[in-house]
Amino acid sequence: MSSEYKELESLFSIISPPKSTECNRSNNVAEDHCYSFGLPISEYAIREAVTKEAKDRKLWNSKAVKNMRIDNIEHQCCYHYVLESFTEQRSTAETTEPFSIGQYMDSAAFCEMRNPLDSLGPSGASPTRSIDHLEQNNPWEYSVEPTKEFTAATKVMVLPGSSRMTVCSNCNAEGQQHCFHCRGNGTDKCNYCRGTGMKAGVAHPAIYTHPMIGTFPHGDSNMGYPGGSSVIVRPPNKGQTYAAGTPMHFMMKAGLPPPGIGQHDLCVYCRGRGIKDCVQCKGQGKKSCITCGGSGRTMTLTKLKIFFNVKRSDFFTESELPQHLFHFATGEQVVFECNNYVLPLKKFAVKEINENSRKICADHLQGSLGNTKMIKQRHYVDSIPVAKVFYTIGKKTGVFWVYGSEHLCYIPKKTSHCCIS
Ligand SMILES: [Zn+2]
Ligand SMILES: [Zn+2]
Ligand SMILES: [Zn+2]
Repeated sequence: MSSEYKELESLFSIISPPKSTECNRSNNVAEDHCYSFGLPISEYAIREAVTKEAKDRKLWNSKAVKNMRIDNIEHQCCYHYVLESFTEQRSTAETTEPFSIGQYMDSAAFCEMRNPLDSLGPSGASPTRSIDHLEQNNPWEYSVEPTKEFTAATKVMVLPGSSRMTVCSNCNAEGQQHCFHCRGNGTDKCNYCRGTGMKAGVAHPAIYTHPMIGTFPHGDSNMGYPGGSSVIVRPPNKGQTYAAGTPMHFMMKAGLPPPGIGQHDLCVYCRGRGIKDCVQCKGQGKKSCITCGGSGRTMTLTKLKIFFNVKRSDFFTESELPQHLFHFATGEQVVFECNNYVLPLKKFAVKEINENSRKICADHLQGSLGNTKMIKQRHYVDSIPVAKVFYTIGKKTGVFWVYGSEHLCYIPKKTSHCCIS
């Protein structure tokens, strides 16, 4: 997203989606899901996992682990319920941009009317909707596909038919505006000679004391002329302009160089003029209008911002293991459903999953009312295998866990406290 759009962020106003799209719930969830559960973790996998963990955490040496006796394994399961809702929000903002046909065409290209047949009247009359008719249309009438489902993204485009070309009010269609830097003069003080026209950068007394000139070039506070501004002389015959009090001024008045000043004494940049072309307007006194980019025309249009978002909520069933450990573990997916709307699980073998599915689904449905449109929902249950292992090393007994398809291992810090005697 470009910074231009970020600046416009505050200008966008959210448009609520049409109500009809909210009652599109599907009822095709099989009530008698066959929930199968994953295989328990094998003793071989348990030994591998605990060997690695003991080594990483430097708990036991490899010999001790090798001689560890596994007294008992209790196979358990942690169920992880996840609901993800993929939603869309739309907002619009009126903007004025320099007119540029290429830009407008590009934005319109990836937007199309959703189901054009829907707009047919009951009589079957097919009003051909020209771009002019779209001006007052609801931004929700355009189908904009997400680049990737269940991925947050923002798209900004021009609402088709919203653009109107207008005359630029900043420059009155001239395409140029006054240069404030040089006050429209097109010239600026030469900063190499400090406006004196002299290579040395110091005004020459032979010039400014001469009765024909009698003017000091530019204001120079060091010389006791504070605040003095430059006087620019513009020859009527469209000759080069120059600053008063400079060698050029003298030459134009007297028709000959000032006494005692040669060509080599003049500022090499302005050649004795004391001024240079204004860098802002390149000496024109006017510059390209910033509002219309010089075209004299602006485009007033409605920007449509589409915000795709994913809301994810999840729930883990009770386990002896700290819950945060499960965030890194996966299991076997025993339920999966993806639809416009999903219904809460009702007949899952574990009651808490059903209860929490109901709560989470209701919460997401609530969130999708109003300004947010639900595009799709998916939910699933992961059955994360957990093996509780009772072991003996030498004369010490203890317990550790191996869990997840990744066979992660959790050895409690104070193993002795968890001992079974
Ligand atoms: Zn100069
Ligand atoms: Zn200028
Ligand atoms: Zn303009």
